[in-house]
Amino acid sequence: MTGNHSPDLDAARRTRELTDLAESTVDLLVVGAGITGVGVALDAASRGLSVAVIEKADLANGTSRWSSKLVHGGLRYLAHGDIGLAVESARERHALMTTIAPHLVRPLPMLLPANLPTRLGVGLGDVIRRAVGTRTALLPWARGVDPEEASRLVPAMRPRRGLLHWDGQVVDDARLVTAVARTAASHGAAILTRVRATALRGTGADVVDEVTGESATIVARAVVNATGVWAGTLAPEVALSPSRGAHIVLRSAALGHPHAALNVLVPGSRSRWVFALPTDDDMVLVGLTDDPYDGPTDSPPVTDADEEFLLSTLSSALRTPLGPGDVVGRFAGLRPLLSGGGATADLSRHHAVVRGGDGVVTITGGKLTTYRKMAADAVDATALTAVPSATRRLPLVGAGSPAQLQQAAARWPARLVRRYGTEAGRVVQSTDRGDEPLISGRPELRGEVAFGLRCELALDAGDLLDRRTRLGLVPADRERAAPVVDELIAAHAARQPGPVGGSS
Ligand SMILES: Cc1cc2nc3c(=O)[nH]c(=O)nc-3n(C[C@H](O)[C@H](O)[C@H](O)COP(=O)(O)OP(=O)(O)OC[C@H]3O[C@@H](n4cnc5c(N)ncnc54)[C@H](O)[C@@H]3O)c2cc1C
Repeated sequence: MTGNHSPDLDAARRTRELTDLAESTVDLLVVGAGITGVGVALDAASRGLSVAVIEKADLANGTSRWSSKLVHGGLRYLAHGDIGLAVESARERHALMTTIAPHLVRPLPMLLPANLPTRLGVGLGDVIRRAVGTRTALLPWARGVDPEEASRLVPAMRPRRGLLHWDGQVVDDARLVTAVARTAASHGAAILTRVRATALRGTGADVVDEVTGESATIVARAVVNATGVWAGTLAPEVALSPSRGAHIVLRSAALGHPHAALNVLVPGSRSRWVFALPTDDDMVLVGLTDDPYDGPTDSPPVTDADEEFLLSTLSSALRTPLGPGDVVGRFAGLRPLLSGGGATADLSRHHAVVRGGDGVVTITGGKLTTYRKMAADAVDATALTAVPSATRRLPLVGAGSPAQLQQAAARWPARLVRRYGTEAGRVVQSTDRGDEPLISGRPELRGEVAFGLRCELALDAGDLLDRRTRLGLVPADRERAAPVVDELIAAHAARQPGPVGGSS
């Protein structure tokens, strides 16, 4: 259930709300529109506070679109003995899969080696899953599979016995951010992309509108800094040790169109895995590296050594090794880990709320899976309201009951319902030939681009190619789609002029 306002965001609404903000005092200013920032905005707006989010680029500009897209029950934390964090993850996974975003988060079968430590870890994970109320109809018990069944699930793997375990996968992390942002907007939050904070204090921020170049001051009763790996640039008291995580992208055919994720233990480690995760768009994401990083934060690189490590570890479980020619894309993101010494792989995945001397509340660390809890903690820390967080039971825009989602799936393409839920029909109807693919051989539709412009605050082709759709994960596909996206932008601008730019 959403609030009284429209969830639809576009360039005109952005301009209007930015102007209004300059003339008023907002209860809460949130800086950064990754999953944490938009989560904070939704939490606060749904408690009745007036809220504005400012973001220097676009929704999901940072780490939140570079994740592995797992909404996980924290098996890895169990390996480190952190049962509390695993329970928190499993609880948040349950809320996301059953209430908050059942259209966006789906069960993902995962094949693991059938050894004793894995059986114990997965068994404990299942006990926790059951304790937090997730039914086996949603996430079945782990079970052993014979070599034939394993090969049916992941045809490219060398036949061997395995353990089949179920976890959660978000269909697209950037779409989760967009859905949370639009839900926050439906509760009255102003979502203002292309607005950069240059200085923060407990009573507001100095900002620059990246569209017009104008500077302004925003006045607020409280400020939350949710800028992820950039947090320290605005709040010097926050010390982060970013860790770089790289993925490579394969066409699903390279692994024989797998129906399950394949997890391969990194040689010499008891808890580090390389996994191959099938996506909804006929791709497989292979990750993950975990290395300390102190380079430029805006676009962390993927090195040839990363690619070689991921390919060779995965290939050790395959019938035929993969090579660089199989790689169609690659990306890296930075985990905003709190400093604390030791290897980044061992640093805590717990989140932290840090209150600076000037009253700015910084929320950092954590992970995509637990964004809702992080957001609730950050809003509590502002002490703006005694109203408790209600987001655990608050469905996002597009989340419907199972019956509503089934109805939508009966009428609209299933892939669209998995991405837009009950709004799938609006997507198709948002332009002429909205149900036609943008380019051959890819599932993305013309309607997704039009909907991005009309309802999801896409302001240019980059927003559409890299965040509202994920065509940008494969540079060759991005290049083919860019002219079509430019045409749709031009058609939109002709109908409704605004600060909308092309892909050049
Ligand atoms: C490789 C990798 C894989 C991961 N996989 C998973 C996974 O499978 N499951 C999981 O649960 N978690 C995963 N995580 C963790 C998860 O992705 C992150 O914890 C989460 O996305 C962080 O979100 P955030 O909103 O805090 O930061 P970000 O998404 O980085 O958002 C910060 C935002 O602040 C904006 N910003 C910065 N400076 C300013 C400024 N001055 N003014 C205005 N805006 C500003 C940025 O543009 C950015 O959009 C993974 C992380 C990595 C790196």
